[in-house]
Amino acid sequence: MAAFRTAAAVVDALPEGELDRRIRTRTLTDLRGIGPKTGAAIVQAHAGEVPEYLARLEETFAELVPLADDVAEFRSALRGDLHTHSDWSDGGSPIREMAEAAIALGHEYVALTDHSPRLTVANGLTAERLERQLDVVAALNEELAPFRILTGIECDIHLDGRLDQTDELLGRLDVVVASVHSDLRAESAAMTERMLAAVANPHTDVLGHCTGRLLIPREQREGRRQRPRPESAFDAEAIFGACVEHGTAVEINSRPERLDPPLRLLALAVELGCEFAVDTDAHAPGQLDWQANGCERAVETGVDPDRVVNTWPADELLEWTAGAR
Ligand SMILES: [Zn+2]
Ligand SMILES: [Zn+2]
Repeated sequence: MAAFRTAAAVVDALPEGELDRRIRTRTLTDLRGIGPKTGAAIVQAHAGEVPEYLARLEETFAELVPLADDVAEFRSALRGDLHTHSDWSDGGSPIREMAEAAIALGHEYVALTDHSPRLTVANGLTAERLERQLDVVAALNEELAPFRILTGIECDIHLDGRLDQTDELLGRLDVVVASVHSDLRAESAAMTERMLAAVANPHTDVLGHCTGRLLIPREQREGRRQRPRPESAFDAEAIFGACVEHGTAVEINSRPERLDPPLRLLALAVELGCEFAVDTDAHAPGQLDWQANGCERAVETGVDPDRVVNTWPADELLEWTAGAR
């Protein structure tokens, strides 16, 4: 990290306006003490992003760094996770292994939210496969009780705002996370309308990774590589307002490459009175431990743990997802 300390000192010593000019003209690395890596981090930090280099460090060393007390306390209030994937869609592990890892972490429940049919690149579940999965989960739950696998889906939001699964099946699931996975660069008005429809859908419980941003590149199934991408544009005040109105929780996505919503939007959601779900979006058992990332951001923005639906006991949570609250 010494290189970063040096670079920070160089930036601090620049005259007013000089940093902006250097970034604009791409001459930052001409300065002694700033290399390509530190230069890129400065540009990203200046744009209000988590620098790619820091995001990578966080991903690599997260479990080695002790949590701050308030973050540890927040995390210990979580009873489960509402967004996880198994090898039925694009996760790497069987349902049982995900559940056993969740039990080992001290969770009381975990929602299994594999992808919906339209997301063919992620091996999304057809209605028939989802029905079969429900039977598998029911059998596992008998065996693993009192731990509970909540049935669920990460349901794609179609361009017109409809959800990508039958109403009948959505109605039978414990937890519905609705997420945008396509046309992320749409103009704000269209994206807002699309998200509003999904948030207002009575089946939707959680709005997943709302901006869709990716901070660092990542490998996907079959070696597909996704490049970093900026936030989608939408009217955040309208979306979070609708979340309050319709009782849809805003997800705090803990994946290191997502960390979604960004802090300024998370602060806005807090201010508007939203409920939240601190989720890992885990695609492997080890990733269930990523909740600390989300807790850190929740603490930073003053999220009240009582407003986080996965701090609630399973019965209370299920009453809420069933719309009884
Ligand atoms: Zn997703
Ligand atoms: Zn997901």
